Amino acid sequence: MFSSNCIFCKIIQKQIPSTIIKETEDLIVIKDLYPKSPYHYLIIPKKHIENLCVIKDEELFILSKMGQVARDLSIEIAAQNNQSEPVVFNLVSNNGANAGQSVFHMHWHFLAGKNIYKDGLKL
Ligand code: AMP
Ligand code: ZN
Repeated sequence: MFSSNCIFCKIIQKQIPSTIIKETEDLIVIKDLYPKSPYHYLIIPKKHIENLCVIKDEELFILSKMGQVARDLSIEIAAQNNQSEPVVFNLVSNNGANAGQSVFHMHWHFLAGKNIYKDGLKL
């Protein structure tokens, strides 16, 4: 379930502090320590899975739960801002060191409140 020396496992076990936005049986959502958008959250499965390169078939259900939580966040942020439509957002998932992953416990970056393509980024 947990891996020693993994910062997200320590956050999940409340051994180190974080700003928790949401917590379910399987997932935790925290604020990114170095936000790149007005809303920059990390959607993290509680089970230590390194990344999507090595996820096991029996663990794939978690991706659906992560998507569900992203949808809920977009509705909740809209409500906080008195908007009737869900806010638009980007999900970013870095899988592997050469793909920019720095914490090797699978997570999705949830980014909202800013158009990330405005500064020249192209995908
Ligand atoms: P990645 O580079 O895709 O692995 O993303 C790791 C993210 O974790 C980065 O955006 C970091 O800013 C964030 N991060 C690292 N340590 C913490 C922490 N203690 N609390 C919250 N976010 C963190
Ligand atoms: Zn971990």
